[in-house]
Amino acid sequence: MSSSDKDAPKITVSKEIIWHMTCGACRYYWTVPTMSEADNPSRRSWTCPLCATTLDAIEQDV
Ligand SMILES: [Zn+2]
Repeated sequence: MSSSDKDAPKITVSKEIIWHMTCGACRYYWTVPTMSEADNPSRRSWTCPLCATTLDAIEQDV
């Protein structure tokens, strides 16, 4: 492959991060996908999509 192959077909890849969210009030679990390493959901509070409780988010080691 040389730079003259720029029009050749490629498989493009990109990394997706999927954050796992668990509501501390009702234990409902959902996911939040992002393409940005800096987009950490623990930076703010979230409202549970099931029970509508708004809680601070804290990152947990698995
Ligand atoms: Zn909930």
